[in-house]
Amino acid sequence: MNSKVYIETFGCQMNVADTERAATGLRKAGYEITPSAETADVVLLNTCSVRERAERKIFRRIGEVRKLSTPARKRPVIGVMGCVAQLEGAAIFQNSPVVDLVIGTRATDRISSLIERVNEGEKAVIDLEERQEGEVWDISPAERRSPYVAFVPIIEGCNKFCSFCIVPYSRGREKSRSAQEIVAEVLNLRSLGYKEIHLIGQNVNSYRPRSQAGLEGYAGATPFSRLLRAVGDTGVERIKFMTSFPRDFHPDIVSALDEFSNLCDWVHLPVQSGSDRILRAMRRGHNAADYLKRVESIKKSNRRLALTSDMIVGFPGETDEDFEDTMRLVRECEYDGLFIFKYSKRRGTPAAKLEDAVAEPEKTERFLALEELQESIQKRVYGDYVGRKVSVLVEKQSARSTEDMTGHSTCQKVVNFRGEGTAPGDIVDVLISQAKPYSLYGALSN
Ligand code: SAM
Repeated sequence: MNSKVYIETFGCQMNVADTERAATGLRKAGYEITPSAETADVVLLNTCSVRERAERKIFRRIGEVRKLSTPARKRPVIGVMGCVAQLEGAAIFQNSPVVDLVIGTRATDRISSLIERVNEGEKAVIDLEERQEGEVWDISPAERRSPYVAFVPIIEGCNKFCSFCIVPYSRGREKSRSAQEIVAEVLNLRSLGYKEIHLIGQNVNSYRPRSQAGLEGYAGATPFSRLLRAVGDTGVERIKFMTSFPRDFHPDIVSALDEFSNLCDWVHLPVQSGSDRILRAMRRGHNAADYLKRVESIKKSNRRLALTSDMIVGFPGETDEDFEDTMRLVRECEYDGLFIFKYSKRRGTPAAKLEDAVAEPEKTERFLALEELQESIQKRVYGDYVGRKVSVLVEKQSARSTEDMTGHSTCQKVVNFRGEGTAPGDIVDVLISQAKPYSLYGALSN
């Protein structure tokens, strides 16, 4: 039997949660989870396909893993799981004949039996099927990345079909977990000492469970704002959520944040472009004005809510004027943080058929211009924290100085501080004395 399994994770938080779920199932089936590929009998690569570069990385990594040896075999069993597995399917065996196993995004709970089939001598084992009735999200605390911060998936898949995006094809249709199950998991994590819960999903605010179970007694304009109230009511210290989809962002979400202080002061609301023409071509279902209306409701909150976003530059047909609209929107939104991506053509998406590609140097130029603008905005936004206190969940010692500790604020900023007497897992107040472009610095405050 192959006893030691190593899982390497690429991509988003959903992949992190899938790895934790896979590890939980494998350990239950008698496998040991090992922290390095070098000591493993089975290496599983949990992959991301959202951009071409991420996908290429996987095939490079397979080349490295095939050179590892194990006591029992010439090389470990190699499995590809996650989005690349779901999309490429059996073609992976042709491109990389060393791969033994392809595990789709909904086969996480069946990995142990798939490994057994490889061990019995079956070649090219593949499972791209749907989840089976009765499968539940089950993540053992032992498999979680952190003993203080836990990712709790509330919805998987995506129904939005934005023209650039591969996610609906790699992760299937939206499927929400029951609120009862989510609340029970959060209560359990709280009793185990977890301090911060991240409710995660491709579009958390599109949450739509099949039944009301667990939401009774919680009013709200949408199932997601009701869920936020239900989770807020568990009393767990900090709750964050991502990602929110603009079209489904109801102002009642902001009301819920105003009602529960443990719902953190941060919203991640990707816009992708500031140009109505490009937003239409992207099939986002919102224009710039709709988006700005959502932002206005966020800015009207009782607390200052940090706002972050994703932006794609160089979508097919994007002109200088379109890009100028993007720059204008970014100036108006004053984001606390912005993830900027150069458009990457994804085979099988509607945008892949569009002509009028933006040349690579042009994309780079726009990327750099937007990055420069965002840095200047961020300097101002971060500068405003100087002299203010923020609440920080201590995570570890800072990499820069042994005297400093590091963690995240409720508003999702990295905060470094003189950490005397604090330990990972503590929640402390830090008085900010200095703002850097991507972090804050300060001292403990009583
Ligand atoms: N579901 C979320 C939404 O659409 O708002 C985001 C999911 S995606 C995993 C994260 C980010 O990757 C997107 O917000 C987008 O900015 C970026 N992205 C997705 N597809 C891309 C593509 N084809 N090229 C470049 N960036 C892309």
